[in-house]
Amino acid sequence: MNITVIGTGYVGLVTGACLAETGNNVTCLDIDKERMNQLSKGNIPFYEPSLRELVLKNFQDNKLKFSTSYAEGCKNSVFIICVGTPDKGDGTPDLSSLRSVLDSLVNSIKEDSYIFTKSTVPLGTNEMMSKFLNENIEDYKVVVSSNPEFLKEGSAVSDFQRPDRIIVGSEDDEAKEIITELFQPFSRSKNKMQYMSVASAELSKYASNSFLATKISFMNEMALICEKTGADINEVRLGIGSDPRIGESFLYAGLGYGGSCFPKDVNALIKTQKDLGIEPGLLERTKSVNERQVDFFLEKIISKYSNLSDKHFTIWGLSFKPNSDDVRESIALKLIKKLSPLVESIRVYDPIAGENALKEINNLKNIKNFNDKYEALIDSDGLIICTEWKEFWDPNPSEFNIMKNKTIFDGRNILNKLRMQKSEIEYYGIGT
Ligand code: NAD
Repeated sequence: MNITVIGTGYVGLVTGACLAETGNNVTCLDIDKERMNQLSKGNIPFYEPSLRELVLKNFQDNKLKFSTSYAEGCKNSVFIICVGTPDKGDGTPDLSSLRSVLDSLVNSIKEDSYIFTKSTVPLGTNEMMSKFLNENIEDYKVVVSSNPEFLKEGSAVSDFQRPDRIIVGSEDDEAKEIITELFQPFSRSKNKMQYMSVASAELSKYASNSFLATKISFMNEMALICEKTGADINEVRLGIGSDPRIGESFLYAGLGYGGSCFPKDVNALIKTQKDLGIEPGLLERTKSVNERQVDFFLEKIISKYSNLSDKHFTIWGLSFKPNSDDVRESIALKLIKKLSPLVESIRVYDPIAGENALKEINNLKNIKNFNDKYEALIDSDGLIICTEWKEFWDPNPSEFNIMKNKTIFDGRNILNKLRMQKSEIEYYGIGT
């Protein structure tokens, strides 16, 4: 099939590369000229495991093309929209990129066309898109369907190629046939296609992220009870997770959720509730528990030192999650911004997100980036672990002897508390 993917960010590039890999001719379109220029030279704009190989292979095979021209990129009749929908600040998703896509499509569509929206958009948006396009394009019919994306950064390629489900919100049989054919290679082991109304598809995406965010906040609330009672959240997690009605995943207490999706999607659903006149109870709590988590952890750090102003801290992990260089809404950066004015210096280390992180905090004068995690520890007064990269999971305790104060604040509960304590390391986790 010949398809055009509009918006070549995390979702668009993964979508384009994976669909090219299954034999389609894909044009990835974006208005960011520098990004597309770099992609045409084989330079991938962000880190995502195994994406580079997939992009290069399909680009070389001519199955994957990059373009900044709607006239050139829209010669197909199947479009997948993957532009960003960030939070405007009040919970409302900013649909300005999407609106500019629609304006461009009005002038570029030259035959009956099928549009699938992967961008996460509020309820009613696909209907609005359909109305706008069909009112403004006279000679051709345009069918707009919702196809929310559930990939996770850090495992985006494998998530796309092995999805749990493929949701299609559409009333149009031909649109359903097209998307089924397109995604059939990823739906072989069992039928993963789920057809539903457009509104249900739109809500499924928000509900999914909000439910997962709620699980995290629930565990963080339990962790607070643990801290005051001597219960251990790691044991409680095992205790409740073995119940299949609860499930084992996403039950980790820690510094809370960040990233480009959970915070904005929870906010957007709260905004939707308010717009509908529904009191947003549970989701407001999910959000507030998440927001206080970093302050609660910071308080724990502050309380362990009589004077902070001459102290040097080390942060391991800057990306919002492991296996990604994405620092959007990263909890590590939130913590650094709050800690920086209180201390002498902060040395930071991340396996790949250092450069992106520094762009966000370059106004803070007492931050120093290190390329080696142990070098960042020399003479440090405390290590704070913010992201659960695998390389942090099992350090040899003797490696911490280079610190001035062997104190670790483990914001992701990844280290073995007893092992650390046996090596005379002061260890503080969350709820443990
Ligand atoms: P992104 O910011 O990485 O990429 C968006 C791209 O769209 C950018 O390259 C930008 O230049 C381009 N763009 C903006 N306006 C354009 C226009 N008029 N024409 C063509 N291109 C244009 O965003 P992302 O993280 O890939 O997210 C895209 C959407 O997918 C969002 O709605 C997001 O909520 C959703 N989503 C994201 C993830 C994720 O993990 N990142 C997962 C599932 C769903």
